[in-house]
Amino acid sequence: MIRPDLHLHTSASDGIYDADELARLVQRAGVTLFSITDHDTLAALLRAAQAAYDRGLAFIPGVEISTEGDEEIHILGYGVTPDDSALNALFSRLKQERINRVRNMGERLQALGMPVPTEEIIESAGASVGRPHLGRAMVERGYAATVQEAFDRFLASGKPAYLPRETPTASQAISLLRQRGAIPVLAHPGHIKKPMAQLLPLLRAWIEAGLSGIEVYHPANRGNYSKWLSLAKEHHLLVTGGSDFHDHSPRHGQIGETALEWPTALQDGWALFKRAKKQSV
Ligand SMILES: [Zn+2]
Ligand SMILES: [Zn+2]
Repeated sequence: MIRPDLHLHTSASDGIYDADELARLVQRAGVTLFSITDHDTLAALLRAAQAAYDRGLAFIPGVEISTEGDEEIHILGYGVTPDDSALNALFSRLKQERINRVRNMGERLQALGMPVPTEEIIESAGASVGRPHLGRAMVERGYAATVQEAFDRFLASGKPAYLPRETPTASQAISLLRQRGAIPVLAHPGHIKKPMAQLLPLLRAWIEAGLSGIEVYHPANRGNYSKWLSLAKEHHLLVTGGSDFHDHSPRHGQIGETALEWPTALQDGWALFKRAKKQSV
């Protein structure tokens, strides 16, 4: 019996468990097919593949790429190779770019009379340093009452300390994943704020670029599964699902939970597994 969870984060990005511990928790939750999809890194995949093998679990190596147009869109890639040179080059560029951006935004805050210790922030935040870390430092120093206020007044797009990111667009991430033999899937469409009338032309462009699936069974889509499912069917896209587990807080899903709400988990999980295997050989 396949019980899939195809969206999980480890401590290689912003989850709290390493690949070994996560595989143990996956097995304990009764999940039999899982994928690790860390943000912009492949660092946990080799260990995860070994842990899956040791435990007799089916595993699809994955990744979740953050992309930006006028809104942040996440693209999942399934069947990636842990030592893929093109993907690793993109991710190390993005990591350096995150650091530079925090440094430059720190300089802007300094010029505004609100110095924050950017080097310390970069040091302690690790791979995914970003605006929330600056916001927290601003609250600690009394420049803003809350992180939200720090964003609203200084850090958000168009505010005085803001600098844009140089991330790929969704279409670029999709074509890169395709070129590298991976299967690109639109993550948690329920998080997208655009109305359907604006999303549809984008979706068509993404399909043109090689988008192969939609993550229908994600906690953000709850209550709207049938809407995303019919969109996937209409465009002949694969259907995937996962909890987006990071830790035990209620901010994200818990391991295996979306599989319980996913009537075709067996067929869909198997379809993705087969296709990811075929593309990786
Ligand atoms: Zn995401
Ligand atoms: Zn995620």
